[in-house]
Amino acid sequence: MERTSQPIGGDAGPGAPATSSASSTRATAVVVVGAGLAGLMAARALRAAGIEVLVLEARDRVGGRTYTRPAADGTPLDLGGQWIGPTQQRIARLAAELGVTTFKTYDTGKNLEFRDGQRFEYAGAVSTADPRISAEVFEALLNLNILASTVPLDAPWRAPDAASWDAQTAATWIDANIASPAARALITLGIQAVFSAEPRDLSLLHVLFYVHSAGSLMNLLGVTGRAQESRFHDGAQQLALRLAQSLGDRILLNAPVHTVAHYHHGVQVTSARATISARHAILALPPTLAGRLRYVPALPGARDQLTQRMPMGTVIKAQAVYDTPFWREAGLTGQVSSDVGAVRITFDNSPADGHPGVLLGFIEGDEGRHWGSADPDTRREAVLGCFARYFGARASHPIEYVEQRWADEEYSRGGYAGYMPPGVWTTLGHALRAPIGRLHWAGTETAMVWNGYMDGAIESGERAAAEVLAALGATTGAVPERDLPATSREA
Ligand code: FAD
Repeated sequence: MERTSQPIGGDAGPGAPATSSASSTRATAVVVVGAGLAGLMAARALRAAGIEVLVLEARDRVGGRTYTRPAADGTPLDLGGQWIGPTQQRIARLAAELGVTTFKTYDTGKNLEFRDGQRFEYAGAVSTADPRISAEVFEALLNLNILASTVPLDAPWRAPDAASWDAQTAATWIDANIASPAARALITLGIQAVFSAEPRDLSLLHVLFYVHSAGSLMNLLGVTGRAQESRFHDGAQQLALRLAQSLGDRILLNAPVHTVAHYHHGVQVTSARATISARHAILALPPTLAGRLRYVPALPGARDQLTQRMPMGTVIKAQAVYDTPFWREAGLTGQVSSDVGAVRITFDNSPADGHPGVLLGFIEGDEGRHWGSADPDTRREAVLGCFARYFGARASHPIEYVEQRWADEEYSRGGYAGYMPPGVWTTLGHALRAPIGRLHWAGTETAMVWNGYMDGAIESGERAAAEVLAALGATTGAVPERDLPATSREA
């Protein structure tokens, strides 16, 4: 982060949950690890059922991969997840319940495509600058959608062609099925933008699962009527902050968990701040981070091997703030797709009233890996150089520049989400959600609908809470926690 302003809702911020005083050992009914949207939703659902819960969060803030910070003038800037779109019903419902309001992403005017050193203007999610290329791209999108529709969301490994799809990457499919280099490059860019990974990194089966999970590839790529349709006035982290408010001192911040002991009768979860004994644990973390915890006894091999094989994507989110969104005067949406450069995808990320102007650029996949290791000044120059190439020299001189490198975040280690390389869904996918004794798995990576997105995180938290409620009902008749024996004694 290249700035000094205070976090919204960090320890000192408005709406921050209390960092209750450290206590060495506490007992509760359910312990949740991770106060991202998944963990907070799980905790909320359990509380709604009268079950006591404690949430252990490693960071000094809630929200995980949603993180909103104010620009110098107070404009909320989302450094992580930000957009919601149609069919994301869970997040829309939650936002309405919490009174968190949205506005439409600026999408008026022409988009720009930069290809082979040339500049093209077009409308819509996919460049129509060259009709032959766009016809090829649309055919590829259609074919991917048709294949995707056969992938069961609850068990992708049961797709009719799962074995063959999981034995190839998105890159091999692109090479075999798309003729022209220009159309290949556009589909490659689309994959990079959606997964923040390279097509060669991704199992084709995973790409198809993800497409089905979101409805269609077009849903993933587009703005109006699609996944990038709306944003939150006060930033996406508001959802987590308001959920946290209702949980109060049931959330312990600055509490990175390192050990999870699990027994026949209960669990004991140890963090730097406290040890919590409980009947069940919900681990609401990206799988690769869940795999870094110590489990006693050790988890079955399949679960551990799964977590060894679900890397996070690589993304740097860079934003430049200007007096005004000057590109709008030129009839531009602010959306760019480019075949070269550190930033190949941009959006207008200005607030609802258009002041100040904010340009957003993503550095993804290999570019993210490369530029993540560069020194901050060089990277800033590269980003602003791309903005200037796309929108003119004025873009070189922002009032403020803000970036977030998600791979460097100790408690995320990348983004947008964890993904499956070849061979993982079909051999280890069954270990993604299956509870192990009293351990339950949440996090957007475990979602069936809108996997990888905030909406999926919410689904996963609700699903994990339902699992625990069912288990508590089976073992205790769903009596409230106050009537349960202290789990620490059983453990
Ligand atoms: P997380 O938010 O990762 O929560 C996990 C929590 O666990 C974190 O708070 C973390 O600090 C904590 N934790 C980690 N390790 C430990 C430990 N050892 N002990 C205790 N706590 C621990 N989604 C959208 O829907 N729309 C978008 O526009 C969008 N854009 C994105 C842009 C970026 C740059 C990124 C990074 C993500 C984006 N996403 C978007 C994805 C979205 O943010 C995530 O899907 C969602 O926030 C994940 O929530 P989660 O609760 O599953 O995981």
